[in-house]
Amino acid sequence: MAIECDYVIVGGGSAGCVLANRLSADGRSRVVLVEAGRDTPPGRVEPEILDSYPRIAYFNPRNIWADLRVSLTPVPHNAPDTALPPRRYEQARLMGGGSSLNDMQANRGIPDDYDEWAASGVQGWGWQDVLPYFIRMERDLDFAGPMHGRSGPLPIRRIAAEIWPGFSRAAAAACAELGFAAIADQNGEFGPGYFPVAISNVNDQRVSSAIAYLDETTRRRSNLTILPHSQVTKVLFEGREATGVQLMRDGVAETITAREIILAAGALHSPAFLLRAGIGPAEKLSRLGIAPLVDRAGVGRNLQEHPAISISTVMAVTARLPRSLRRHIHLGLRYSSGLSDALPCDMYLVAMAKTGWHPVGEQIGALMTWVNKPYSRGRVGLRTASPLDEPEVQFALLGDERDYEKLRLGFLLVARLYATSAMQGIAHCPFPTSYSERLRDLGIVSAKNRVLTTILSRLLDGPQWLRRRLIDGLVTEDLPLAELLRDNRALEQFIRSKVHGIWHASGTCRMGAASDPEAVVDSHGRVIGVRGLRVVDASVMPWIPRANTNLPTMMIAEKMSDHILR
Ligand code: FAD
Repeated sequence: MAIECDYVIVGGGSAGCVLANRLSADGRSRVVLVEAGRDTPPGRVEPEILDSYPRIAYFNPRNIWADLRVSLTPVPHNAPDTALPPRRYEQARLMGGGSSLNDMQANRGIPDDYDEWAASGVQGWGWQDVLPYFIRMERDLDFAGPMHGRSGPLPIRRIAAEIWPGFSRAAAAACAELGFAAIADQNGEFGPGYFPVAISNVNDQRVSSAIAYLDETTRRRSNLTILPHSQVTKVLFEGREATGVQLMRDGVAETITAREIILAAGALHSPAFLLRAGIGPAEKLSRLGIAPLVDRAGVGRNLQEHPAISISTVMAVTARLPRSLRRHIHLGLRYSSGLSDALPCDMYLVAMAKTGWHPVGEQIGALMTWVNKPYSRGRVGLRTASPLDEPEVQFALLGDERDYEKLRLGFLLVARLYATSAMQGIAHCPFPTSYSERLRDLGIVSAKNRVLTTILSRLLDGPQWLRRRLIDGLVTEDLPLAELLRDNRALEQFIRSKVHGIWHASGTCRMGAASDPEAVVDSHGRVIGVRGLRVVDASVMPWIPRANTNLPTMMIAEKMSDHILR
């Protein structure tokens, strides 16, 4: 079957759903949205996806690109065998993309983030340019005024501190004890301080970009076609003009021809499409047998992520999440590392009052901190030319020494928070945490995991000496916290081997001027060097903002849709 349209959007994720809605709104253009995973139509979204507690959804192999493995830390050129083994890195494979299974944190970042984009030559992307799109997107249920939208498709709210569990309240008191200021609205006040975390959620249910933007009215538009279960395998070209895509639906190859092809497949898959089409570093592509089309060094480079580390704790029984509350993250903290050349608010922290769906996860809380303004850069490349093979992903977290130093200081701050009087009696036996493959396996809902964790949870609520023994001998794979705090070498070893990402992959097809060899698309998302092809997703960010990346990605799609229609 061959379909003809004006715009084909590859990927129905955070950006793709926004694009599908906005580009089809005027009724004049025929739009096709192609998503490899399943659809989440109104009224039929599974409880697991709607759940305000997201960790069941994102550990379920059914919802993700299950074969994707990444290198988190730098791979030494001369000794690749010494690199840490590749790890899972959950990337959504269903309608709504990351917004259908992420933590729902709805964070704009700070004005400087976007002014920095503009200052680097990405015209039209300063704070005053992007703010109207953050506003257009949202329906803030708590705040009004010039900084907020009240009628956009995406509801945003915060959980009132009065109903927070003891752990979250104690974490807020600990922040106050260490001198941090209280902020009411993280998306309207941009200095350092602690605040109730904004989430894209209403009536205690997730609102993904698919739920917000592909509602029933939008889906009834005769000029919009949605194709779930359809994996795009190739962008088709005539010379340097992109003319359509090839896809596999139910095992059958199909073609869609379009006036414009818009890649919205996410920061790991969008650059892979370009590389397979011959757009990228010509020499490397030739070695894989791919005929170069446009020699563009920047494709797949500039990969960014927020490097994170956590200290967990067994929460006092009275401090745990009550059964009446599904949402587990209530408190956020934006702070500055204080390093000499560091920018303000270059660090972030969240308190989690639950770390797994199972009985042990309900007992264990965590304070996780991350480098909000990282310098390290990784890359996405190809292992093979086949569209069915996942790309090679090297994040190189902490590759830049400044990021290591910031994360070390962040770890020490977390330890200080646990040592405040506010946390005493609430947080037992704080221990350094590995976000390990074992923990991910435990995160998959199964009878075996329930039995194992039920037994362990009973023991963890036993006497203090037993809890200590279990934590040190069974729960953590690392040295006790006190030892890490005493021994700089051990701490460095821990941080470098246990640093993890938080699924904020971005930057691999960065916006910029055509004269900049590292730029991949212009400020309207057009791929430099070809016609008829754009990238509109988290890939195009020149710098990762000091924020979780979902809201910024949706903002990008909102703004780019205006550029495309103009
Ligand atoms: P995605 O949303 O990933 O969309 C890409 C889509 O393209 C996917 O649906 C994918 O299946 C599809 N696709 C890929 N290849 C093909 C192909 N060949 N054919 C057809 N379709 C294809 N951000 C926040 O702001 N707050 C959070 O709390 C938060 N937590 C996160 C937790 C997790 C587990 C994850 C995964 C992400 C989280 N993020 C969070 C990050 C945020 O969700 C992402 O930055 C955002 O979703 C990126 O949007 P995107 O449109 O670039 O890509």
